[in-house]
Amino acid sequence: MSQRLLVVEDSKPIATVIKQIAQSLNYEVVVATTLAQVEEILSGDTDFFAATVDYALPDAVDGEAIGCVLSHGIQSVVMTGKMDDATRQKILAQPVIDYIPKENSQAFLYLKRILHWQQTNNNNAILVVDDSSSARNHIVELLKRRNFVVHTANNGVQALEKLQQHKDIKMVITDLEMPEMDGITLTNEIRKKYAREQLAVIGISGAENGIHSARFIKNGADDFLRKPFCPEEFYCRITQNIESLNNIAQIQHAANTDYLTDLANRRSFFRNAEQRIAEYKKRNIHYCLAVLDIDYFKKVNDSYGHDAGDQVLKVLALYLRKHFGAGLTARLGGEEFSMLLHGVDSDQLYNKLDDFRRELSVSTIPAGDTHISISVSIGAVFDSPEVLSKQMNEADNALYYAKEHGRNQVVISGAEEHE
Ligand code: GH3
Ligand code: MG
Ligand code: MG
Ligand code: MG
Repeated sequence: MSQRLLVVEDSKPIATVIKQIAQSLNYEVVVATTLAQVEEILSGDTDFFAATVDYALPDAVDGEAIGCVLSHGIQSVVMTGKMDDATRQKILAQPVIDYIPKENSQAFLYLKRILHWQQTNNNNAILVVDDSSSARNHIVELLKRRNFVVHTANNGVQALEKLQQHKDIKMVITDLEMPEMDGITLTNEIRKKYAREQLAVIGISGAENGIHSARFIKNGADDFLRKPFCPEEFYCRITQNIESLNNIAQIQHAANTDYLTDLANRRSFFRNAEQRIAEYKKRNIHYCLAVLDIDYFKKVNDSYGHDAGDQVLKVLALYLRKHFGAGLTARLGGEEFSMLLHGVDSDQLYNKLDDFRRELSVSTIPAGDTHISISVSIGAVFDSPEVLSKQMNEADNALYYAKEHGRNQVVISGAEEHE
């Protein structure tokens, strides 16, 4: 369901730009051009995810609309034409998400980022560590306006416990001086367990000289804020660090994922499979490594075109995901896939593979305005004591044998030698 955004703006061109930006982020937009209109809308319906509020309206020249929208519990971004110190102070005295001077086109790019963050920040959990409850509450309040998920701790020891409990925490904002364990020691402890690309640490201290920021950074913090900080500075540090974590996560995902099917790629499959197989061996769990190749796939491309071929690969990936789970199914390359299965015994594992093969051979795959029939050949190796690369070779040999002996079949490594 799309979220609703209230746009309070008397300039029609600006309202149009904001509306377009918001719609590109899937917001449903309601526009009001005067304070009277805002009051009328909100008297009937206050179900808005957020609002953008123009500082000056024909019937509210000095920011009166901000208080009105906020009083209905709607988070607001203030758009302002004038940017003097008094106006800034007046805006910042209220719990707004942010304010944006309408000076240039940058303003709208920035608004777009803000509106996007408001939708996505609830995926980002932050731990605030400070022994002073007023300092802690101030930071918590700033973060909540931006929709972050917030956890708190009174000192370093508690912070480490919270990190254990809440695996989704992406950032720690920590004070320096605290009883039991101070911020520097905490940072140091965090870095023994969590890499920088997993968890960002921002140190805060009121001390005058630079030695504390230096100590935070040298102990593994990513950034530093000196008290007292202004909200602009605070949000800038937080969002930059969160964005850089999210960028790294995206790059890592892309590096481990096949772009066409969204399955794991060869590299990520090898890494995951190696770990799992070690686990299976340790716990005496039966498992099976299988390699699958589509039969006569070149003919699919030749008859229906490359796009239809791509579609077949995507649908096959969905089937594989459904049957064998996303984690341990991969596209090795081209029209070749691999699966790691575990189960009660080799008969059951063989049946899982053969049921899949049979089901596929009697299904048709919709592609464009046709339906395409395919079959697959599978080579598999059961409970092999060999290293993974050797197991892959064995499965490949079994696959080759399946291809040579009529395709559309599952061949188990070793079985081909007994014939
Ligand atoms: P076999 O039963 O022996 O496996 O025959 P085959 O035609 O499937 O095998 P071959 O290795 O000769 O051809 C594989 C084909 O897969 C050739 C290539 O164009 C096609 N292919 C590989 N990757 C992609 C892809 O990403 N998209 C599409 N559409 N086709 C691909
Ligand atoms: Mg303190
Ligand atoms: Mg093939
Ligand atoms: Mg092939």
